Amino acid sequence: MIDYDLHIHTAYCGHAAPMTVETILRQAEALGLSTIAITDHIFANKDHAVIQTIRDDVARVATGLEVFVGAEVDVDYSHTDGRLVTDNLTGLDYVIAGFHYVPTVGNYPRGPEDNALPAEEFMEHWASSLLGVVSNPAIDTLAHPGRLLASAVDLDVFFDDAMKVFEEAAALSANSNIAWEMNELTGCRVAAQWHGQWHHIYEIALDAGVKLIYGSDAHAPDTIGTHRFVDSLLSKLPKGCLARPEDVIKI
Ligand SMILES: [Zn+2]
Ligand SMILES: [Zn+2]
Repeated sequence: MIDYDLHIHTAYCGHAAPMTVETILRQAEALGLSTIAITDHIFANKDHAVIQTIRDDVARVATGLEVFVGAEVDVDYSHTDGRLVTDNLTGLDYVIAGFHYVPTVGNYPRGPEDNALPAEEFMEHWASSLLGVVSNPAIDTLAHPGRLLASAVDLDVFFDDAMKVFEEAAALSANSNIAWEMNELTGCRVAAQWHGQWHHIYEIALDAGVKLIYGSDAHAPDTIGTHRFVDSLLSKLPKGCLARPEDVIKI
């Protein structure tokens, strides 16, 4: 069992209705977790306001859990250099960079047919954005590496190219002390035929000295702390390779 979960959304994000802060904390306690991070989305600078609200909610609940209040801060899709939507990261215990949208276009593709960019052009923008993200030492963790890639292009064609980009990204991440997230929700987002290959991304990370950290990306109480997909990845990686919260949260 993994006794922490460093990627949890709340009802404030608008697409996780039952996730009040109190519900999250109670569920985490019931599961016997020791540490959680609440990491709601920051899609734009104005979304910062909700972080203080979450912190106030946490303060109202008596709990023995260690609770960090961070955010999943979006990559700014209107640029191709991987900058985040805001430079203002003050007041965040933990910063996850969320690369969700097609650079220069801004949609979340459900499949390659949904990606308005020619695949080669997407790959260029994806690479420059990813390499930019992992060059920003203000970021603690790269959320769900490869998830956007998997839904935007045909991996049968671009898998090897992508792994080369991940090698570069891993070296930069190690330099910037940015961990890579083992994200449970990615198991639902990436086509099953690729599940057996997904651990290669994390092998690349480990080879470069990048820490691996777990987050469920829960949007509902019953997915907090779940890690079936992550376990399947861990089973193909060296024992004990998963980092602890204190290894990645710099307070
Ligand atoms: Zn995300
Ligand atoms: Zn998320």
